Amino acid sequence: MALEKQENPFAELAMSSQMARATVNFDWAATELGPIAGWDLGLINSLRIVFSCPVGMYCTWGPQRRVFYNDAYIPILKHRHPRALGSPLHEVWPEVWAQVYAIVQKVESGGFVLESDVQFDIEVEGKPQNNYYTYGNSPLFNVEGKISGMLCTILDTTTSVLRTLDALRAAKDAAEKANVAKSAFLANMSHEIRTPLGAILGFAEIIGTQDLEAPEREQYFEIIRRNGASLTRIIDDILDLSKIEAGKLATEMAPVSIQTLLQEVLAMFFDNASEKKIQLNGILTEIADLVVITDAVRIRQVLINLIGNAIKFTSQGSVKVFCRAEPLNGIRKKVIFTIEDTGIGMTQEQADRLFQPFTQADATSTRKFGGTGLGLALSRNLARALGGDVNIIHCEPDHGCTFEFSFQADEVTNATAAQTSESASTESKKPFSGFKVLAVDDSPDNRELIKSLLHTSGIDVTEVDSGEAALNQASMQKYDLVLMDIQMPGLDGYSTLSELRHRGFQGPVVALTAHAMKEDKERALAAGFADHLTKPINSHQLIQTIKSHLK
Ligand code: ADP
Repeated sequence: MALEKQENPFAELAMSSQMARATVNFDWAATELGPIAGWDLGLINSLRIVFSCPVGMYCTWGPQRRVFYNDAYIPILKHRHPRALGSPLHEVWPEVWAQVYAIVQKVESGGFVLESDVQFDIEVEGKPQNNYYTYGNSPLFNVEGKISGMLCTILDTTTSVLRTLDALRAAKDAAEKANVAKSAFLANMSHEIRTPLGAILGFAEIIGTQDLEAPEREQYFEIIRRNGASLTRIIDDILDLSKIEAGKLATEMAPVSIQTLLQEVLAMFFDNASEKKIQLNGILTEIADLVVITDAVRIRQVLINLIGNAIKFTSQGSVKVFCRAEPLNGIRKKVIFTIEDTGIGMTQEQADRLFQPFTQADATSTRKFGGTGLGLALSRNLARALGGDVNIIHCEPDHGCTFEFSFQADEVTNATAAQTSESASTESKKPFSGFKVLAVDDSPDNRELIKSLLHTSGIDVTEVDSGEAALNQASMQKYDLVLMDIQMPGLDGYSTLSELRHRGFQGPVVALTAHAMKEDKERALAAGFADHLTKPINSHQLIQTIKSHLK
């Protein structure tokens, strides 16, 4: 039986405030709904709330489970069906009636409130759409206190569920992509590490087993040196990137002549460029005398990466490096390098993703050019740490790329620059010979290396292989400085240092270690080491550091 709207007792209640004070009596209710006529004022008021409530609600009533719903419920099901009011459940929602009926039965027989999450496929504009609802189902009692129906509050959670599902899907996609990128990175990294390692081991074996002429030997040594340096670069890049990600990148500021710095970097690439018959030009006219306070190591690192890439990806034509400076406030300058090549170029789409770590334009296994894909991400981060940026300002497949690298720095007046270089040159004249250094390292190769490097500077080196041996040696002989490995079996570097101090050694003790993170350095300095040097040993840095402590 179908009812007109005014026959819906709940809609009627909502419309008429008088009804709130009256008892409800409908003709059909007597036969179809049983004892509605006896509803009391409290219940009627509750129902008035139901009908003015902005939350969708419906109720089922009586043995036939006739359905009534409030206006807020209509848009929830996205269809209006007023004639269904008061109709039995299976006529109102033939698609889902069995599902709803099961809940009605549960609530009516159990007499408790039941919450349920339901998903309906409902057609919206001719297309099936997933809809998600949270239902709060409570039993309804008649005047005799008998459960005669169910009141249901419905929240349409479709938007938030879909949003959550989208977020989950996106997170899953990102995790999958990251996993693919990680695997590709590991494969790539393994390739990039094994290649120089293979050359080092292979040529070391040849030198050790074959009778070679001097020029050949020298050539093979050079190959070993070159490959060792390239391994060091990879490790340094990874360390730098992890420092940046941990927010622990430290910069060391000092006066730097931009022209000298750029010339030094260009000089590193002239041989490579001329082998490839590429012109390499630095156009520096605008910054001829510019000296700024910045971190020369980081600037050099970015330039090496950008110029190195430009040469690597160019097989004919030229690589041009322009440099200019723009005034900011007072002595503040923005220094801008532009690196322009005529190489393979790239599409805009490739350019957009290159600054992600481990990303390369060509990620296939047949790619022609090596590389870790770390350089650009690192360069951008370093530039940003210095108040600038790295960007691709032009690129076109087969027509080259133009990268721009900028940073901000204070300009140094001539007087300050002269003072700095003078003090540097006076220092470099100090004699070295006659100084005694104790080198403590459990690795015989490292000890041999330290000894050879320092002998050429006239330093007298004694080597020992443990902390215990160092304590012995220091008690027998006076040393001007101790070079100390940190990680050693037995007494480690820290314990050896504290025991040395305990026994009265007052000279500088410099840590020389493969623990290369900033916090390692901080820990070493806090423990009383005079300085912290990292392995692989940089001979220039080693000598400069020793020199600075042997005053
Ligand atoms: P790597 O060179 O070690 O792979 P980078 O982060 O320096 O790592 O560069 C990432 C990628 O960007 C390179 O593999 C290459 O695909 C692309 N790329 C960088 N510079 C250039 C350039 N000048 N010309 C063409 N492609 C370049």
